[in-house]
Amino acid sequence: MHTAYISHPACHLHDPGEDHPETARRISSIEDRLISNGLFDLLRHFEAPAITDRQLLRIHSEGHLAMLQAALPTDGYFRLDPDTVLNPASLEAARRAAGAAVHAVDLLMDGRADNAFCCVRPPGHHAERAQAMGFCLFNNIAAGAAHALEEYGLERIAIVDFDVHHGNGTEDIFLDDDRVLFCSTFQHPFYPFTPLLENTHHRISVPLDATAGSVEFRGAVTELWVPALQRFRPQMVFVSAGFDAHRDDDMSGVSLEDDDFRWVSELIVEQAARSAAGRVVSTLEGGYEYRSLARCVELHLRALMGLDPGALPDR
Ligand SMILES: [Zn+2]
Repeated sequence: MHTAYISHPACHLHDPGEDHPETARRISSIEDRLISNGLFDLLRHFEAPAITDRQLLRIHSEGHLAMLQAALPTDGYFRLDPDTVLNPASLEAARRAAGAAVHAVDLLMDGRADNAFCCVRPPGHHAERAQAMGFCLFNNIAAGAAHALEEYGLERIAIVDFDVHHGNGTEDIFLDDDRVLFCSTFQHPFYPFTPLLENTHHRISVPLDATAGSVEFRGAVTELWVPALQRFRPQMVFVSAGFDAHRDDDMSGVSLEDDDFRWVSELIVEQAARSAAGRVVSTLEGGYEYRSLARCVELHLRALMGLDPGALPDR
């Protein structure tokens, strides 16, 4: 498998302030581990382009773009809400983070990669059509999904989201769009405290109790996501890859193990092979404990690359 790895130096410069958990060290921890384990050089590297206004307006309101532009500080910080903070580099980073997902779709559609991982920040899945929140400015995964639908005319795409927080932004943006199947698991009740909507043929929300672990998570995916994916037959699968449900990550109560992230990543790859010619676009969402984040992203990438979880790659 040729796996694209898409990032941009601007993603390191977004800074929501001291003591904020969403730091540039998240990306450097991932990259340090991939380099030391010999995986980094096996990936196809691409620099994320900045998303265009036209591409952003597929998923966000004009008012949202104008608000962020007006709020961008020339120095220091601007606080959009207690969690969501801009520094002067934030908008450039956000445009690259969303542009990465758009570029990933282009790479897969023209055969330059089989699947892709966007190692970007700020994350995106809390950003609604007209609302930045929860560390998120633009909805990166939604930008990629909308690009696949509008630019390439795909008729059925799936977004799966295993971040421990509910992807309220993704749900909001595709609420009435039945070309998009949105499958998620998340701790509930928990941030962002959006009301739990009833499941439909294109929305499978699986709330998990704060004490949930591997058994509950794997049960939800096997019993609810998999049948929905097999019924829907997506032509491309998008992943909101958040690693904050890990037991070492004190962001949440849910306590998954490294092996759960390997398992769900391999399962997603398998499902994509059935109807989507293996096309998977994954983008980094949460994950705030540096060591478990780096280990689990490695396992996620090994699944995308078709490598054994433990085997060292042939050089
Ligand atoms: Zn999260």
